[in-house]
Amino acid sequence: MHEVGIMESALALVQRHADERGASCVHRVVLRVGALSGVDPDSLRFAFEVVARGTRAEGATLVLDLVPTLVYCSSCRCEFAGDRGAIFTCPQCGDLCGEIRSGRELELSRIEMS
Ligand SMILES: [Zn+2]
Repeated sequence: MHEVGIMESALALVQRHADERGASCVHRVVLRVGALSGVDPDSLRFAFEVVARGTRAEGATLVLDLVPTLVYCSSCRCEFAGDRGAIFTCPQCGDLCGEIRSGRELELSRIEMS
């Protein structure tokens, strides 16, 4: 389960931010998770609970901001929602497109602490 490793690095970042601001308690952590990032949201939530135990983030709410896959078609200049995969077929012109505009995100977007 590589979600544990992902959560460990995310929490290391959270702790660093908490140190910088002298915060003693982390209330909420928001992560942007793209549909193509390859992580399972449920595993991520579980990993958060395990990894946060004994840290300032213990008991904090983990919010997963799920980002859908958006693919750009250069032939007809449209954006459309894709699902899993690396090559997508444009619903308008049928061309194959591989230009992914969003969906690969896996990043911390917000931390609330005091
Ligand atoms: Zn197209």
